Amino acid sequence: MPTKPKLGQNFLVDEQAARRIVAALGDIAGRTVVEIGPGRAAITESLAERAGNVVAVEFDRELATALRERFDPARVAVVEQDVLRFDFAAAAAEAGKKLRVAGNLPYAITSPILLKLAASHAALDVAVLMVQREVADRVTASPGTRDYGLLSVTMQMYGTVEQLFTLAPSAFEPPPKVYSTVFRWRFAPRWVELGVEEAGFLRFLRQIFAQKRKTLMNNLRAAGVAPDAAAASLAAAGIDQRMRAEAVPVEGLALLWRGLEEQK
Ligand code: SAM
Repeated sequence: MPTKPKLGQNFLVDEQAARRIVAALGDIAGRTVVEIGPGRAAITESLAERAGNVVAVEFDRELATALRERFDPARVAVVEQDVLRFDFAAAAAEAGKKLRVAGNLPYAITSPILLKLAASHAALDVAVLMVQREVADRVTASPGTRDYGLLSVTMQMYGTVEQLFTLAPSAFEPPPKVYSTVFRWRFAPRWVELGVEEAGFLRFLRQIFAQKRKTLMNNLRAAGVAPDAAAASLAAAGIDQRMRAEAVPVEGLALLWRGLEEQK
């Protein structure tokens, strides 16, 4: 079967890497694991051996058919669907427990998939995902570093992220042009702890990270916040007016958001 580059079909051929991805999910006996893009089953095979059951979400019809023929449906349920339309909440309700998620993602739609998982966080406890190395660097970056930005802060608001290992293009068939990194995301949303409201704070983050080169003050002004209110809230949060959002730890941004909300 020829590969479809548009669907990000670079299949993992490093068996040890596949086993490491599955091991990074922790004890999955008795758990339902959703696999995003099972492809030719490099990871699915090892998941099926260890998980209570697997829900394998594959967009490609031919691959989905081949997977159905290969696995016992009681162990691996193949769902032929775009993962961006997959209902994680319904799957968790059916499983009766939070889901674990694994996937060597189709790189062209990495960000939408990560945002979809964030939005489905109540149904999830751990995800182990392979992405392009540069994306993993952004996801796991710390404030004040070159790679830190909106994607980093958004994902880190939904839990902790850590890089596990990196693979060269030769671990895949056909080899992609980029290196790939596996990271683990433990879902533990921080809204309550930081005293912020999810939708409002996410909107605020998009505003203050809108122009990476601009200061926080200028991004706030561009978003329509009155200069006096912006200056007063920055001062109350102990943030220098010349700082950019990317240099401020999320605790400081939460303080700033609360100050601005009080002034509304
Ligand atoms: N898991 C396999 C592996 O590691 O060898 C395949 C990984 S390959 C990088 C990405 C897989 O995602 C392909 O099987 C592709 O057909 C599938 N895919 C692409 N877009 C998808 C989508 N929107 N929803 C679900 N699967 C998708």
